[in-house]
Amino acid sequence: MSRLDSVIRRLQAQRACLQQGVDLVRDLQGPVLELGLGNGRTYDHIREICSNCEIFVFERKVAAHPDCIPDDEHLFLGDLSETLPRAVERFRGQVRLIHSDIGTGDQARNAEIGRYIAGFVPDLLCPGGIIISDQETAFSGAEALALPEGVRPGRYYMYRAG
Ligand code: SAM
Repeated sequence: MSRLDSVIRRLQAQRACLQQGVDLVRDLQGPVLELGLGNGRTYDHIREICSNCEIFVFERKVAAHPDCIPDDEHLFLGDLSETLPRAVERFRGQVRLIHSDIGTGDQARNAEIGRYIAGFVPDLLCPGGIIISDQETAFSGAEALALPEGVRPGRYYMYRAG
């Protein structure tokens, strides 16, 4: 598969997982957390497909398209090691959806940050809440969800809190 095909598949998988995740939490209450603003593409998409969602974004260095930058009240600026503990204090047991897209080309580092994030997820999610992640983020008590049709296992991960 060419690199172009691979990027297209990855973005299609991301979009399908976001749609499935938003559909599954539509009737729940609580905020949505976007971990990794990047260009702001997925943030913008979640805004579009979940117009009644209040979205809080976590990013250590904002460099997104100007139209895709949240206001200061909805931005946790800094490293996740500093902002996730604050998020738990503020949102404990209230979050309906987390989307995490923090991967780089460094697989070992990706796995490490996935495990790190997973440690916070049970404290953040409400019952029935979901994490969608580009990294493995299994946590204690998690229900692994089937991925949307056409998304290869391992490309994305989806878990629901009991
Ligand atoms: N979802 C984004 C989009 O669609 O445009 C792309 C996100 S990009 C792949 C990953 C982002 O995560 C980068 O902007 C990076 O700065 C941020 N990031 C990675 N590790 C982080 C950390 N430990 N704390 C805060 N932000 C982090």
